[in-house]
Amino acid sequence: MKPDPRVAVVGAGWAGLSAAVELAARGARVTVFEAAPEIGGRARSLNWSVKSPDGGVQEVQIDNGQHLLVGAYQETLALLERLGGFESQFFKRMPFTLNSDRGLQFKASDANAPWHLVHGLLRARGLQWGDRISIARLGVTMKLRGWKTAPGLTVAQLLSDAQQTEAVQRRVWNPLCLAALNTPPTKACAASFAAVLRDTLGSDDARASDMLVPNVPLGESLPKLAAQFLMSHHGIIRRRHLVRSIQSGPTVDHEPFDGVVVALAAHSARRLLGPRIPALPTESIQTLWLMFAPGIFEPHCLTLMEDGPGEWLFTRAEANGATLASVVISAAARATDRTDLIQSCLSQLEQVLAQQGRPTRLDGARVLGAKLIHETAATFSCCPGLKRPDVDALAQEWPSVMLAGDWTASEYPATLESAVRSGLKAARQLALAL
Ligand SMILES: Cc1cc2nc3c(=O)[nH]c(=O)nc-3n(C[C@H](O)[C@H](O)[C@H](O)COP(=O)(O)OP(=O)(O)OC[C@H]3O[C@@H](n4cnc5c(N)ncnc54)[C@H](O)[C@@H]3O)c2cc1C
Repeated sequence: MKPDPRVAVVGAGWAGLSAAVELAARGARVTVFEAAPEIGGRARSLNWSVKSPDGGVQEVQIDNGQHLLVGAYQETLALLERLGGFESQFFKRMPFTLNSDRGLQFKASDANAPWHLVHGLLRARGLQWGDRISIARLGVTMKLRGWKTAPGLTVAQLLSDAQQTEAVQRRVWNPLCLAALNTPPTKACAASFAAVLRDTLGSDDARASDMLVPNVPLGESLPKLAAQFLMSHHGIIRRRHLVRSIQSGPTVDHEPFDGVVVALAAHSARRLLGPRIPALPTESIQTLWLMFAPGIFEPHCLTLMEDGPGEWLFTRAEANGATLASVVISAAARATDRTDLIQSCLSQLEQVLAQQGRPTRLDGARVLGAKLIHETAATFSCCPGLKRPDVDALAQEWPSVMLAGDWTASEYPATLESAVRSGLKAARQLALAL
């Protein structure tokens, strides 16, 4: 890289911030353009004014959507560490666990792989022996096949071909597919699902399947650390700047740079770069944030809710004793009235409490506030045969313009890890080209 190049990064999501950090660390003078007032993109934090337990008002930070990371997010965790963060500052790490409101209980042990899962399977509750054998058979078959699947296969077809019992499909694989790919199993890509299984449950490192639940707002993690790093490395973040044009040269809104990383969601990149960017279908996610009076829910609860519409419940304790809960409704294309949806989710949570032996009516005195956030284009729809961008062709056409974003990483679904990996990769390629 020539000395002191001027580089623009368009988009301050986790992909853009990772690219910006990598380029600044290599000595580039980085300008990040972000259309929104805050950085973090689809994993950003925002303020919520909600009733406090003493009847006043409290300001809490929530995320635009509840996120779950896994131990296999190696590049994300390494980047956080490189920026001076400790994993335990941001996340509570726990072994792979699947507990549901209908009595399913699975927890990996602390043994080495694959025994951590074998123990979990033997000790699981709510599964018949046929179900356990079915799960083990899929794991062994997939490993023997190198975690490869036939092209064009959906997750539903993969599960049916592998003769998974109806209960295992409904209670285990389908929720995991939705959680990982945010795409219903009938249209989700089996190859991407297999890649996720390979790197988590199928890994030789038992810690790769650990679950990392954020215990602070996500904005406190990579976005904050990256912004601090950029400030101390002559970087600039221009918030509220919607970029309207990128030209070969390259220029960003007619301002010349030595190189550009375009780190946008596919639809935004297509708006700027035209039809060379494929149009990817998207899936939505709704997150219902709830604040509960003290003592109702246990903190650090991660519960699968089997009947919908809410699919996962997460809780965490606030300093004043109240409990912040989030209910995830993924691939939530079904149109439901907001009030009905909140009421249905509260009924599900009453079922969770009843299952824990603490039946409670979640009325106005116990629910301090509710906020529903609907991300209509939360992720790309991870279907078989998805047309990913031809990053290399673009690099040949515009050698100093690189693409990043969760959708550009091959085989993986839309995740924080694919965003970070894509950002780091684009930055390294750009550094070579400058
Ligand atoms: C509700 C929800 C829940 C999720 N749950 C999980 C999870 O549990 N685990 C997981 O790993 N992943 C999860 N994801 C996916 C994860 O958040 C994304 O894959 C990741 O954040 C994408 O990062 P990105 O940088 O590629 O894109 P983005 O975050 O979309 O970043 C693009 C940025 O570019 C900005 N921008 C757009 N157009 C312009 C323009 N013209 N000029 C300037 N700036 C522009 C946008 O404002 C945005 O900040 C979830 C996503 C959502 C929405």
